[in-house]
Amino acid sequence: MLTFNKKLENIKTYEAGKPIELVVREFGIEAKDIVKLASNENPYGCSALVQESVRNIISKMALYPDDSMTNLKNALSKRFEVNENNVIIGSGSDQVIEFLMHAKANSSSKILMNSVTFAMYEIYAKHVGAEILRTSSQHHDLDEFYEIYKNENPDIIFLCTPNNPTGDAIDAKDMFNFLDKIDKDTLVVVDGAYMEYAGAKDQMKKVEPKDIVASYENVIYLGTFSKAYGLGGMRVGYGIANENIIRELYKLRPPFNITTLSLEAATVALDDEEFVNKSVSLNFEEMNRYEDFASSKKIDIINSYTNFVTLCLNETQNSSDLSAALLRRGMIVRDLSGYDMNAIRVTVGTSEQNSRFFKLFEELI
Ligand SMILES: *Cc1c(COP(=O)(O)O)cnc(C)c1O
Repeated sequence: MLTFNKKLENIKTYEAGKPIELVVREFGIEAKDIVKLASNENPYGCSALVQESVRNIISKMALYPDDSMTNLKNALSKRFEVNENNVIIGSGSDQVIEFLMHAKANSSSKILMNSVTFAMYEIYAKHVGAEILRTSSQHHDLDEFYEIYKNENPDIIFLCTPNNPTGDAIDAKDMFNFLDKIDKDTLVVVDGAYMEYAGAKDQMKKVEPKDIVASYENVIYLGTFSKAYGLGGMRVGYGIANENIIRELYKLRPPFNITTLSLEAATVALDDEEFVNKSVSLNFEEMNRYEDFASSKKIDIINSYTNFVTLCLNETQNSSDLSAALLRRGMIVRDLSGYDMNAIRVTVGTSEQNSRFFKLFEELI
């Protein structure tokens, strides 16, 4: 019998939000009648300038990409006011998480993360057979993180701010106070996948990667083009850290991990600040509607610094049943029962998509 690496035995395959194509096939609903609010993609698409520039270089597909990634690295280093050797680019920031897990951890390592947080941390930790430690608090409680850190001396600590799937964020000041107390042999990962949203809603939540690089040799900041920039389909993310960390991560990077079209898209996207700003401000306008809706239905909503909301349902409602019923009606949301929460996570969509959600939700409860 073919046997596999024992470490794979207790890994649950990551379940991404159902793609629209699958719902078409499973439920016979026409694609135009399906709304996907499950993966925190930008509902306004991506910058028109990006689309145009990608069209213009489409003929370059035959050649391998520029593996030095000079243009994008240069653009990122300018934007974040760091050096190019402080930057690594991954196929999504997911891939950077994978690199850093392999760079720092092994089967005798401990990895500390929030009780409810981004699922990929656990999956990659299990790849290397590391032990996973979690806080008990649902929101990042840095005192609790510190308690566990002192007792367990973990090799890696993940801070996800704003946090997925809850949407809450840590005050930058508190985070830096926490980082000050952590020994230099513990790698701290600050995942800022939604930082464009958080920074716009509340300056206090904004973490600047250059502040991390300047003061902490053991901390890496992660960002992505998949959310506010609307490039989920292009798979581009980045890590910003001290050059010693970046140098080690580079040893694990497969060559040509970012395609020519993706490099171009991300480089141009970074330049179109107007598109991102517009997306972010529309996001919070629409989020107000979710807050009003939730309060009118007496449902708890977590104060969100992202492009999604987490609705904590009442005892009479069941998140799995509700999301299944929404799915049969062509509305894809994220059921959080797998996180032991009777809650659903809904990406804030366009005005029309959100109205549709409110209508269906109302019919079902
Ligand atoms: C979406 C997301 C990422 C990374 O997404 P990529 O598409 O791989 O760049 C990382 N962390 C969190 C918390 C996310 O929500």
